[in-house]
Parts: sequence; structure tokens; C-alpha cells
Amino acid sequence: MMILNDNMLYDATIKRIKEKEINAEWALMESFEEIKNLFSQIEDKYISERVKDVENVVQRIMRNLVGDNKDDLEINEKSIIVAQELSPADTAGLDTKKVMGFITDGGGTTSHTAILARALELPAVMGLCSATKKIEDGNILIVDGDSGKVIVNPDDEDIIYYQEKKRQREKLRSFILKEANKPAITTDGHRVRVMANAELVEEVYILKEVGAEGIGLYRTEFQYLSRSNLPTEEELFQDYRKVAEIMSPHPVIIRTLDIGGDKFKDEFIKTNETNPALGLRAIRFCLKNPHIFKTQLKAILMASAYGNVQIMLPMISSLDEVLKTKSLLEEIKEELERENISYDPKIKVGIILEVPSSVMIVDILAKHVDFFSIGTNDLIQYTLAIDRTNKEVAYLYEPFHPSIIRMIKNLIEIADENNIPLSICGEMAGDPLCVPVLIGLGLRQLSMNSRMIPFIKKLIRSLSVEELKKDIEKIMKMDTSKQIRDYILNRMKELFPEIDAIGEYFYIQADRYGEKRKEQ
Ligand code: PEP
Ligand code: MG
Repeated sequence: MMILNDNMLYDATIKRIKEKEINAEWALMESFEEIKNLFSQIEDKYISERVKDVENVVQRIMRNLVGDNKDDLEINEKSIIVAQELSPADTAGLDTKKVMGFITDGGGTTSHTAILARALELPAVMGLCSATKKIEDGNILIVDGDSGKVIVNPDDEDIIYYQEKKRQREKLRSFILKEANKPAITTDGHRVRVMANAELVEEVYILKEVGAEGIGLYRTEFQYLSRSNLPTEEELFQDYRKVAEIMSPHPVIIRTLDIGGDKFKDEFIKTNETNPALGLRAIRFCLKNPHIFKTQLKAILMASAYGNVQIMLPMISSLDEVLKTKSLLEEIKEELERENISYDPKIKVGIILEVPSSVMIVDILAKHVDFFSIGTNDLIQYTLAIDRTNKEVAYLYEPFHPSIIRMIKNLIEIADENNIPLSICGEMAGDPLCVPVLIGLGLRQLSMNSRMIPFIKKLIRSLSVEELKKDIEKIMKMDTSKQIRDYILNRMKELFPEIDAIGEYFYIQADRYGEKRKEQ
């Protein structure tokens, strides 16, 4: 803002336009040339390089002047981004050839920005409060996304340590990857289906290699967020068809547009909601904008002719939303028949259980859907009343809260009674400390961030359901999340006394919760 208001840039440009009667772009470039000249005469290298800051501002004004108001971040060399906030839309538009990681003052580990960072395989640390104040342009940084640590201007010892850690990690991963395609069967013969969550079509190519037995959650909103206009039916169809074909014969569960909340784009949602997480998000947005919803549903139906495609509806809070969507689907099916376009007439329609009201009426919903998936990211947010993106309350975000464990137990019982498949697709499913609890409670289908799949499969192969059931009996009698967490951590330490491949992950993940994130 200071550069923007500077006389040499602002006033001088206006003066040029008035006096020379040249266009604004030309006048701006002339002003910048003059500033550049001045900076080049400064001997101090640090100060003379500040011309880059002016250049950034000039480029931004120029983009606006020529009507190219894409808000993608423009990055010219390999960098780590340090920002107050990074929206999912910013993150989806990052050039991963140049961006090596990012750090933000705000945010939390289950925010959509963090989920995208994992999908893009970018190390990221969020919720660091004052990183933007403490870190300067040109600083050398180490971003340790495992432990949430950022080192500014590391010494040689740190650099050697982290280079070695990176090597070890890659070695460990390639070792575990070798057995990624073995099924996940517990020591006492229970088979668990392990599927992937995917956000971008590019991710899907490696899913079979990491041992994914299908896509349990294909998040579709980033295709809408990484551009300024709406994707067409044909673009969506081509995307979904590619995913269905790559994964075939495994299932691909396409979640309909979950826009709103922390994922929005001014072009689509213009309301200024004071509480977007409780606002016009996901199914609510889609039912209010049937033209957008119908385009997507039609593309999904068309793709269903090319693989095992299923539809999953987000943020369902009442039966009405399910019925309205099903009737829209019927309309589109008739349209496809009229147009002679093939689709799977028996396509399955399921919902994410992520709003407490739907958990309470799951027996009612069971009569109208083909499957359920528990979305613990939002279920925890809405049950514990904790904003996923708010760093001030991130320490309260607790998957082991007894209310969450009880909810999952009830859901498993009711889904069983109604003979409806139940899986889980929240971040809990890929958390090595939560997985034993989920398996012990009775879940047999998990969907997670693809990087974790080989590790979680290996972990499941060393668990016994009989033993876990005894643990669950004890856990169900506990009063606090801390008691549950400590208990599981100790049990895992007994099971894996040495910090081996899996062990390393336990401890890292275990340290992440329960404790308020310290500013490093
Ligand atoms: C969830 O809420 O658990 C979920 C899987 O969906 P998202 O994280 O995209 O809201
Ligand atoms: Mg959700």
C-alpha cells in the first residue's frame, strides 16, 4: 500500500496521463522506468534490490489495467511462500514447479488449504501467528511439515540434519511402497478396504501405485476454484471420465460441489456471510443454484458409463436435501435418455455424515441412500463448535473427544442394522493413531490422503481386531480425550517398541494434537 501511494508512482503516473495524454498502462511503465533508474544508482545492494517490490506492485496494477485480474500468485523463482492467509483458491493455483512449500500465520491442519498442501505434496506449516512479521524476503527457510517446525536461516548443522531426514524419509517410503499393493488384512483375518481421497485429476495417476483400492472421496471444488469462470459440462465430464477410467474397476466416489465455507470464489458467492461455515455451503449452495448443480450431476452421470462411479452429497443436514437432489437426478436421467447418452442407471447415491443433525437421523436417511461416509473433519468442527480454520481454537480440535468416538460407534451400529455400507473419509482415517480405534470400533473401509495409504496398510497388517475390541471396551468408559489419547499412545508404544517405519509416524502425529501449537 505504501508503494502504491508513493508520489513517484501514483502522482507521477496521473500527471503523465494528464499532461501527455497517454494511456494509463504506458504512463505507469514510464513512471516505473524512472524509479528503476533511481534504484540502479544506489550502491547498497540490499536497497537497490528493493526495486523488485516496486515491480511486483506495478505488475499487479498492470494486470488490473489490462483486465487480467486472475488472482493467481505470480512466482518467478523457487520459493517458499510466507503469507498471513492462503485460501484454498490461492493454493489450488500455485505453480508447484516453483513453490516448494508454504507457511501461514493463520489456518489449521484440517483446513482445506492444508488438505490441498498434502495433495500437492507441499510441506506446509500453518497457524504460526507472526511468521510474516519475523521472516523477511530472501531468508533461507526449512519447513518441517511433520512436526510443524520452521527454521529461519538454519545453520550448517540444521541443513545437514534435515537433508539426511529427507533422504531417510524417501528411503522409508520406497521401502513401504514395495508392499503397497498387498491387501490390508489384520493378524486375525479381517480385511480393511483402503481408498484414497483425491482433489486433483493429476493425483489420480499414482493412486494404484500407492495401493489405493478406489477413490473414497473425490473432492470436485478445486476445479471450480482454480479458475475465474465456471467449468463446462464437457470439461467436467472429461475430468470425471478420466478418473473413472484410470481407477476402473475400483469405485470412484465423486463428491458434488462443496463450495462455500472456507472454499469460495467471489465470482460464485458474492454474499458477505458473517459465519460462512454455517452458511450457504455445499448442498445448500447447489440446491440454490440448480443450473450449476445440474451441470455437475449430468457430467457425473455421463462419466458413470466409463467406470464404477458413485455420487456423494456433502453437508446433508436433513432428508429434504437428499430427496431434492434425487429428484434432480431423475430429471437429468430422463434428459440423458432423450439425448441417447449412456450412463449407469443403477448409480449409487450416498451422503457424507458430517453434520450432527444427520448423525441423529441416520436411521431415517438410511432408507433413502446407498452408502454413508463419515466426514470427521466437519463432524468434529460442527460437533465441538470449532472452526477448522481458526488457529485460536485449533488446540480444541480433537478427534478423540468422547462425543466423536460415541457418534462413530452409534453410526456403525445403525449402518449395520440397516445393511448400509459405511466408510470414513475425514483426516482421521489416515491418522495412524486414530486407525486402531476406527478398526476396533468396526469400520472396514477407510479413505485417506494418498501418501498415507502404504503406511496405514502396513499398520493394519500388524493389528488384531480381537485385541482392539478389548481396547475399545476400556476407551468407551473414559471421560476425556486426553485419557483416550494417552491410552492409545501407550498401546501403540507397546505394539511398536522401536520407532520403526510406522512408529515414526505415530509419534509425529501424536505430538500434533492436544497441545496448543507453539510458535517456533
Ligand atoms: C470432512 O468434512 O471430513 C470431509 C471429508 O470433507 P472436507 O474435508 O472436504 O470438508
Ligand atoms: Mg466436509
